[in-house]
Amino acid sequence: MKYNIALLKGDGIGPEIVDSAVRVLEKIGAKYGHEFCFTSYLIGGAAIDACGEPLPKETVEGCLASDSVLLGAVGGPKWDTLPGNCRPEKALLGIRAAMGLFTNLRPAKLYPALKDECPLRADIVENGFDIMIVRELTGGIYFGERGMRQGKWGEEAYDTECYSRMEIERIAKVAFETALKRNKRVISIDKANVLESSRLWRKIMHETAEKYPTVQYSDMLVDNAAMELVRNPAQFDVVVTSNMFGDILSDEASQITGSIGMLPSASLGETARGLYEPIHGSAPDIAGQHKANPIATILSAGMMLLHSFGLSKENADIVNAVDAVLAAGYRTADLSHGAPYLSTEEITDKILEQI
Ligand code: NAD
Repeated sequence: MKYNIALLKGDGIGPEIVDSAVRVLEKIGAKYGHEFCFTSYLIGGAAIDACGEPLPKETVEGCLASDSVLLGAVGGPKWDTLPGNCRPEKALLGIRAAMGLFTNLRPAKLYPALKDECPLRADIVENGFDIMIVRELTGGIYFGERGMRQGKWGEEAYDTECYSRMEIERIAKVAFETALKRNKRVISIDKANVLESSRLWRKIMHETAEKYPTVQYSDMLVDNAAMELVRNPAQFDVVVTSNMFGDILSDEASQITGSIGMLPSASLGETARGLYEPIHGSAPDIAGQHKANPIATILSAGMMLLHSFGLSKENADIVNAVDAVLAAGYRTADLSHGAPYLSTEEITDKILEQI
């Protein structure tokens, strides 16, 4: 099969880590007989420098014409003083909107070899954990009606949480379908004891659960979920939640894995085309020093194989290769605690050897 992949390398360490992921995809292609064709487009600060805007029209068109998109990261001090609308980060919202991406999948997995990186007590993470957070990405309070007005006590500001049946149904379906490919458990997180929007969310989650009898389903209030994530993270398999709750809980979950350089993500819409990127930023402090950990981007490329192209065996190869390299004790600078470490290219070589 031939797959056209748009590459948005971006700024800082973006080009280095995307190059590593491309090498891994090429190895997978050679092993399984797939042809991956890569086309690079400008985004972020690099696009501002070249053509004066963070998300050029050609980039949007190229992404929409591709089978899927791999993104490095955008931003850096060079562009920090630009007004909000012209900043590199603006391109992220723009490309997500242009591609109609309403789901954000964020796995938070503790690799057994990295247990010591986890800030939780050893007995809590003895058996590791592997959570998939399914966050609604284009609705809720971040997109609801907002404004300033004069209220009972003078000036006040408001933001509105609003979810439609359609928005909840489609994210519920993603969560249950995701669970079918994993350990068949879904926990939906809401604030149904207080919020009307959460009560509709919960009602529709229950309706959807009835269509997936093989998936074990439960609800959890968001305040309790924040505690349970650090008390017993291994209880979670798939977590589905709203835009704001997902924003906060996915950052909490990423923190307990211990390393920002390890965590991939996928943003998905109605079609198979997705946007895959590491959760970290452009790390300008280490750009060009061969110190970047490319694993989050390599795992993001693996998620692309699984979710956009249905290549589960190929994705498993990547995940297993990363597991093996970490288990063998190889570390990048962010995980080395001052001990000798492998460069971005060297750790990529080790992963390639395992595929
Ligand atoms: P960051 O994630 O770039 O860096 C935070 C810290 O983690 C830094 O010390 C960095 O060196 C380290 N780090 C991050 N990724 C790493 C990796 N793969 N390997 C090793 N170390 C890694 O966050 P920041 O410093 O707050 O932001 C830097 C720039 O990135 C800013 O311009 C910000 O707006 C942008 N940003 C972009 C995205 C994105 O493109 N999706 C996300 C977050 C931040």
